[in-house]
Amino acid sequence: MMTPEAPEYIPFKKVWLSGQEGAFMQEALANGHLAGDGPFSRRAANWLKAQYQFADVLLTPSCTDALEMAALLLNLQPGDEVIVPSYTFVTTASVFASRGARVVFADSQSGHPNMDLHHAEQLITPRTKALVLVHYGGMACNPTQAQALARKHGLVLIEDAAHAIDARWEGKPLGSFGDLAVFSFHETKNVICGEGGALVLNKTEWQERAYILWEKGTNRRAFQQGDVAKYEWIEPGSSFLLAEPLAAFLLCQLGYMATHIQPARLQRWQQYYQRLSGFMPAEQLPEIHPEAQQNGSVFYLLCQQEQERNQLISQLKKQNIEAAFHYLPLHQSPYIRKSRPEDIFSLPHAERFGRCLLRLPLYPDLTEQQTDRICQAIELFFGGNWQKV
Ligand SMILES: *Cc1c(COP(=O)(O)O)cnc(C)c1O
Repeated sequence: MMTPEAPEYIPFKKVWLSGQEGAFMQEALANGHLAGDGPFSRRAANWLKAQYQFADVLLTPSCTDALEMAALLLNLQPGDEVIVPSYTFVTTASVFASRGARVVFADSQSGHPNMDLHHAEQLITPRTKALVLVHYGGMACNPTQAQALARKHGLVLIEDAAHAIDARWEGKPLGSFGDLAVFSFHETKNVICGEGGALVLNKTEWQERAYILWEKGTNRRAFQQGDVAKYEWIEPGSSFLLAEPLAAFLLCQLGYMATHIQPARLQRWQQYYQRLSGFMPAEQLPEIHPEAQQNGSVFYLLCQQEQERNQLISQLKKQNIEAAFHYLPLHQSPYIRKSRPEDIFSLPHAERFGRCLLRLPLYPDLTEQQTDRICQAIELFFGGNWQKV
């Protein structure tokens, strides 16, 4: 019996490989230097420094580790506070909590998942040490305004630029505004090495301590450079180096970013935007500030309620298209509810993004035809529903 052929499956995510990653890793193996801080690590770090005018870059095994290093650099004392957005990945907040700080959650903007800086300013107290900015989907969260806020109140500004490689604000690379910034090279991000990250220092005064924390709390790097006669335990640190084979993988990917990864992602992003804005109101689509150049890391749309989002997900699934939501607001997480039961409050915008935001497939190998099919399925789902907005 003939059965109608199911439409081609479109996964939510798909890793992009140039095909040369293996050759780069082979070269690392041939070098015989497999631990961190070898020639490939230095080349990849220097590549990022030169490309984005960062003062220094330390490669780490993950963005979470880079955030851990940032938390250690802050020398947090009990009672210190760190302001973070509620609508973000867990480790943007958890690294500060595990160093004893109280994380204070700011709401999102009414029209965008990024942090509302006016709300963040209201949360500043004499105990506030740092402000953590997340550039959701590589869409800049006004970093000049955040810099001014941090300066006015004497706070350390940290950019969680996990999504934001090659994205800009007023032409300047994200990750170059904060005192510290972190990037992720996890396989779900634009440029990858499996698991990996980077800590960016934009102030050289952090450098000496950062290298000590990186090298297990020792001054091994100064020793290797001949600056000290022996290396010793200087302060609490950990093992924060990215191993050479993964640094080689990363260097390979960086070389394809401008030619292969970014153009394809941006093209698909634009296609979604143009096609969906034909039948969806602008408020349900990503709002990009005119000074922000996003990097095609995330495309999302907003449903009107959670139930509608779930229906859309299952409708797409029936057509063999996988879409996904993410980020349950952290102020409502089981950890915060359990550890701070007295602290019940509502952040209406973050909660709305948690309920209503839906991410669509977006990766370099997504074709124009596939993107069109996804948009068609969405159009079919909404039909004429927008009159009620
Ligand atoms: C992915 C992500 C992280 C964590 O990155 P890892 O490299 O997986 O540790 C942190 N913050 C944000 C905003 C992220 O999206």
